[in-house]
Amino acid sequence: MKAIIYLRISDDRTGQQLGVSRQREDCERKAKERGLEVVAVETDNDISAYSGKRRPGFEAVLQAVTEGRASVVIAWSLDRLQRNRRDELRLYEACRDANAQLALVNGADLDFSTAAGRFVADALGSVARMEVEMKSDRQRRAALQAATAGKPAGGRRPFGFDDGGMIVRPLEAAAIAEGFDSFLAGIPLGEVARTWNRQGFVTGQKRRGANAGQPSPWTRSSVRDVLGNPRYMGKRAHKGEIVADALWPAIVTEETWHAAQAILAHRAGNQTPNAAKYLLSGLALCGVCGGNVHAGANARREVRGYRCANSFGHFARMAEPVEDYVGQVIAARLSLPDAGHLLTDSSNVNLPELRAEATALRQRLNSLATDFAEGELTTQQLRHATARIQEKLATAEQAMADAGRVDVLGPLIAAGDVLEAWTNMTTSKQRAVIDLLATVTLHPPGRGTRTFRPETVGIEWKSS
Ligand SMILES: [Zn+2]
Repeated sequence: MKAIIYLRISDDRTGQQLGVSRQREDCERKAKERGLEVVAVETDNDISAYSGKRRPGFEAVLQAVTEGRASVVIAWSLDRLQRNRRDELRLYEACRDANAQLALVNGADLDFSTAAGRFVADALGSVARMEVEMKSDRQRRAALQAATAGKPAGGRRPFGFDDGGMIVRPLEAAAIAEGFDSFLAGIPLGEVARTWNRQGFVTGQKRRGANAGQPSPWTRSSVRDVLGNPRYMGKRAHKGEIVADALWPAIVTEETWHAAQAILAHRAGNQTPNAAKYLLSGLALCGVCGGNVHAGANARREVRGYRCANSFGHFARMAEPVEDYVGQVIAARLSLPDAGHLLTDSSNVNLPELRAEATALRQRLNSLATDFAEGELTTQQLRHATARIQEKLATAEQAMADAGRVDVLGPLIAAGDVLEAWTNMTTSKQRAVIDLLATVTLHPPGRGTRTFRPETVGIEWKSS
């Protein structure tokens, strides 16, 4: 019969030194006594390996047994052969399935090809299985307990906090708060990422490939992860559910966080991978067909231009005069004495009330689930009630999001020179302001004229 020898070098805390050469001699003697042909010797070194790391030698033994290349595994003792209960179970199962034997220098052999051997192995295996299950039960319970107590989950250092996840790093926290504000003001995720990168912040992740090991810069998706993490409003989530108030301080308010989620959910379906570089693309409408306006060069490619997304025939015109004009009109509007009303008018939203409503709706959703679990609701009733509440919740969240977006106007109105403040804004922020205030319609520029004619750009104020 063919045998495979397994040797393990481990940190002997029991003081009984057992060198690998001694293990090997003993195992080879055992093979000779039993008349076995040794086809391979596998060795693992547990001293250099940290716990949890796969043992290549052990895996090779399992594979040899499973593939029938060896029908006897020779080891010095059971505790040499297996390091933990999980491995023990895997070994028994592999041997049982292959009718293989365990031959031990120090201990009784286990022959899985006989009924008695299988019985002993099953008994040992079920003890092992129970221990494995109890351990993961304990771990699950401990994790849930930590979560409901609002303790940090551990793992990588969260952006904005120290290693333990409890102490705020002020500079990072300020960047996060600003990131939320910008996002609510309509700034794309990619631009928030660029801002953080410019400010010298990095993610906790390490780069792969070229520059492996260096910290990763921020990307749209890692910014999205931050904005979507309830940690930043001081809540502890567990398996995707918010389960407790966190022990660490919040960086943004609950309204801000929920408003951001509403926008993230809304945007999930219609992502625009490339942030708009043009002030009006996708924002203004074609005066001929009412369709979207795209950035598009006219005949001379070096000139930035706009055109109808549906047809070149509708219009194509130079971008710059249009953008200058729109900026001037917006600035003029915000310089009027009544500009402040734009803020109060469009933010006559009662945030605390909305927030309370949303909280109540979420609680109602939770209690529905309980009612269903206790058999007080049918599946049909649950589905109906859930849909109704989720609809109301979406409305409340959208209202909070709208209120958040109004923040973008404040600094403009407060500026001494609105036009200058406008000029200093990023394109994304300018777009957010236009989107909030007006509908812009672009008409054909008119034939044979080099003069910009304001009547070819329609600016219709949105009523709030
Ligand atoms: Zn058109």
